[in-house]
Amino acid sequence: MKKYSGLLLVPAIVGVLAVVYPNIFRRTDAIVAELGPLLSPGASIVLPTSNATLFIELTRRYIEVMHPDFSAVVRVGAEADVPVIIKYANRKGRPILAANRRHGWSVSLSSVHNAILIDISTLTTINIDAAVNTVTVGGGVSAADVLGTLYAAKKQTTVGVCDCVGMLGASLGGGHGRLQGLHGLMTDNIVSVQLATASGEMITVSNTSNADLFWALRGAGHNFGIITEAVYRIYDQINDGFQFDAEIIYAPDQIEALFTAIEEFTQTPETSIFVIFVPGPDLIPIVSLSFSSYTPAAQALSQFEASFGHLPHLTRTDSIVPSDQMNTVGSLGLGHVACQSRERKNTYGASLKRYDPPTIRAVYDSFAQFLKTNPAATGSGILWETYPVHAVQAVPEAETAYAHRQERHLVMLLAGYPNSTLDSAANTWLGSVAAALHSTGGFERPMVYMNYAQGTEGLGALYGYDEWRLERLKALKKRYDPEGVFSGYHAIPSE
Ligand SMILES: Cc1cc2nc3c(=O)[nH]c(=O)nc-3n(C[C@H](O)[C@H](O)[C@H](O)COP(=O)(O)OP(=O)(O)OC[C@H]3O[C@@H](n4cnc5c(N)ncnc54)[C@H](O)[C@@H]3O)c2cc1C
Repeated sequence: MKKYSGLLLVPAIVGVLAVVYPNIFRRTDAIVAELGPLLSPGASIVLPTSNATLFIELTRRYIEVMHPDFSAVVRVGAEADVPVIIKYANRKGRPILAANRRHGWSVSLSSVHNAILIDISTLTTINIDAAVNTVTVGGGVSAADVLGTLYAAKKQTTVGVCDCVGMLGASLGGGHGRLQGLHGLMTDNIVSVQLATASGEMITVSNTSNADLFWALRGAGHNFGIITEAVYRIYDQINDGFQFDAEIIYAPDQIEALFTAIEEFTQTPETSIFVIFVPGPDLIPIVSLSFSSYTPAAQALSQFEASFGHLPHLTRTDSIVPSDQMNTVGSLGLGHVACQSRERKNTYGASLKRYDPPTIRAVYDSFAQFLKTNPAATGSGILWETYPVHAVQAVPEAETAYAHRQERHLVMLLAGYPNSTLDSAANTWLGSVAAALHSTGGFERPMVYMNYAQGTEGLGALYGYDEWRLERLKALKKRYDPEGVFSGYHAIPSE
């Protein structure tokens, strides 16, 4: 009986989908006959009616609070399928959304209705050219794919701190990681890309080919097309591929002293600092620091002791970690845990020039209160990320669309809980914390790394308040995507 219970659920799921998203059950049959023969042999089309279980799996998002809905999924078999699908969708007047690892959480995704999901997670080739220090990757690779392959070849470049995140999804908005102090943002390392445009043409975009678009792709890239392949700069591995990592837990009464020490710390390009507030025993938030460095351990240790050694702590573990495992070990392994989590979540971000210790104390207290009032919100946390900015700030402000080069700290505010009953409480709490951080964070107006943005912050917070930036982005949107084909993720208007 157990064997069949899952099967019995399928018609029920299809029935629920039919009620919630009636559009899904219209017009979709034709796509198989019309588009199928135009695709490569490795491609496949999944409809809610043809394989409901797979359809749900392929459209399921990391964060379920936003609801793009889809009429069909086309799993790409080869890069050449992408422009074919775009042209088909244009002919039929059907919206599209590219998806790789489906971690994007902007509420703007809820504006995507009855769309064809173009699943590019199948484009995972990675080829290193050691002679010129570049790696060519498919548009569907993850941070872990790139990190692992480069590590094995004794090479490195900036990737994200969570293995599961899409390399291009992060890079197109900037792309932060522990190596950015040495090599710049992920986006700064892009040499060229193959881009499927809104009209379904394939073009090369680089400093010498469609250079205006190359500017826009690096910071606002999700708005202009689908990247099927990208070439990144890579570097020889440093410190034999090892990092020093100190993981320390402090009592909450050390918050002001800890954040003061971070503010006073003279950060070097090899060193990253993370502080995490996560629910501990009795839901009292733990305060945990991860100090990591690509320098030899003795050097890292003395740097740590000089700036943080005076703070009394509860526990401390030092280790030397191979760089390809840092994402699973560092920061209490939280990056790894975050990748696995599929709870209901609501997420906000804040980019700051400075930490204001009294504000951070107030944020800690409000987090403790939020957990006390909402004990089911155990998946919540606050990540305080201080990556080195040396190579990031070495890139001139106007060189890319990325408008946040003056930021020093990134904050990810996360409420995680079992079901929608806490949506409103979570939203209120997150919104108030974000507002408090913006008010003392050193920028005149709120700034939010677009890949951490909730989606209601406004264009200026994501893409910069300089009028010339927004005008340039709008003009490029008008030229390359006048119909707003790529407008599901923090859309730039064309007017
Ligand atoms: C657990 C977690 C950890 C994170 N860690 C980091 C981090 O360390 N550093 C960092 O900078 N950010 C980080 N982020 C934010 C991350 O950069 C964004 O969520 C990013 O958009 C995720 O890309 P994706 O492929 O995983 O998700 P998706 O939802 O599949 O993609 C996000 C958007 O990018 C578009 N897109 C994806 N691939 C392409 C492509 N090839 N061409 C054109 N458009 C494309 C999609 O259409 C979508 O609009 C993290 C997010 C999470 C949830």
